Amino acid sequence: MVAIVGSGPSGFYVAKYLLKSWPEARVDMIEQYPTPHGLVRYGVAPDHPEVKAVEKDFSKVASSSNFRFFGNVLVGGDGEAECRVSVESLRRNYDSVVLACGAGAERKLGIPGEDLEGVVSARKFVAWYNSEPKHTDLEPFFERRETSLDAVVVGHGNVALDCARILATKPENLVETDIARKTLEHLKRFDKKKVSVVGRRGPAQAAFTIKELRELTHIDGAPLSIFKDEVQKAETPTSLAEIESSRALKRKLELLTKFIVNERNNNERDYGVSLRFLLKPIEFKARQSNPKQVGSVLFEKCLLSGDVPGQQRSEGTGTFLELPCDLALLAVGYLAEPPALEGSGPKSKPIPFLPNVNGRVGDFLYTAGWLKRGPSGIIGSNIADARDTVQTMLNDLGPLSFGEKQGISNLEDHTTWEDWQAIDEAERKSGEPLGAPRLKFPDVHAMLQVIRKQ
Ligand code: NAP
Repeated sequence: MVAIVGSGPSGFYVAKYLLKSWPEARVDMIEQYPTPHGLVRYGVAPDHPEVKAVEKDFSKVASSSNFRFFGNVLVGGDGEAECRVSVESLRRNYDSVVLACGAGAERKLGIPGEDLEGVVSARKFVAWYNSEPKHTDLEPFFERRETSLDAVVVGHGNVALDCARILATKPENLVETDIARKTLEHLKRFDKKKVSVVGRRGPAQAAFTIKELRELTHIDGAPLSIFKDEVQKAETPTSLAEIESSRALKRKLELLTKFIVNERNNNERDYGVSLRFLLKPIEFKARQSNPKQVGSVLFEKCLLSGDVPGQQRSEGTGTFLELPCDLALLAVGYLAEPPALEGSGPKSKPIPFLPNVNGRVGDFLYTAGWLKRGPSGIIGSNIADARDTVQTMLNDLGPLSFGEKQGISNLEDHTTWEDWQAIDEAERKSGEPLGAPRLKFPDVHAMLQVIRKQ
């Protein structure tokens, strides 16, 4: 009997490959929200519905008679929850426990001004536009905005590009997605939007992928600009060697080059998206008219240093650039916040990942996904990752060990897979009149009401 904590892609792929290798295994999946799918539901951008197709695969896993879903159950933690269980208790009640609860904590920069109003983590912004429960704290900020928005997104990963695209896209083009309606209403108020996406290294080192870059190149009403001098300064011999050795990178840079403009022209444009390079954030500065509110981000201009391909670093030049903004989004990666492994105390401090060897954390305690390897890769990366953890589990257990333990039985208020199906149906129905795949319930209470009304 195996407990999997977390029902995102990593948890579901562990369940899938465990049940495939060992059809007699029994799996209980434990999830903090009443609904499953973790990152697929609350992390994938609303205008990427094709990525969410994996949910079908997960439903097949859940249809196994050896699979049970325990939603609305918090594992460890010190927040309020009707249903709670500790990792220790799971270890007593299951033959093996797999922690697949992701990396859901925000990563900070640790520079002055980070606590100003308007400096927001991408973690919060993504959760807000995806209706993740408990993430309504951006409402007051957006309510106070005028009719224009000047946003600076720090980071050059796919999360940064997701955030920039959602901000820059015309709200009417997002109606037929499952974006949170409150977010959409707020975005509708802006008749002018400028979004600068700023990285500390050059185009060849940017973490975003070509698909996400391509999407940024054709946002209706939001032209993309890239500054010639920033691209040229990043063309070090080491960068050229990096580009030469990768066809994918070469293609990405060919696309990027098409959007290079001269700086003078770009300065004249006060709307659209710009991708900025070689700028390291130094400080968030307060607005003169309101010292609690961010008014600009101070960047130090950088050059690349290092002659090992793939390992160039950004080095400050002692010259600075200040970009005015109302909103500064930090998209510089995530951290993991696993539940306490012993006792029933608070979660651990944010860490890059949970130390493990091929998924093994301790005796019959395992991990998978972002908690195992840190926040990297696409959803499909969790397949090989899950297989690796499953193999470790099977090597440890031996064929006769399953079945000695019976799992947890005293969680009265948990949601079941059937409950999720009722919530799913209600959400899909409410999306129908708008042509949206679903309208997600923004809070747990509303989800539980659907079930209790049945
Ligand atoms: P990421 O890909 O690791 O990108 C993090 C970005 O933050 C990098 O540009 C990094 O720059 C920058 N950064 C880190 N520390 C910084 C600092 N102190 N100052 C300035 N910049 C800093 O992380 P992510 O965007 O959060 O994405 C996480 C994972 O999810 C990735 O594997 C991503 O591909 C995946 N994802 C995929 C999709 C998709 O497939 N559509 C969507 C979203 C996310 P350096 O490179 O210089 O360190």
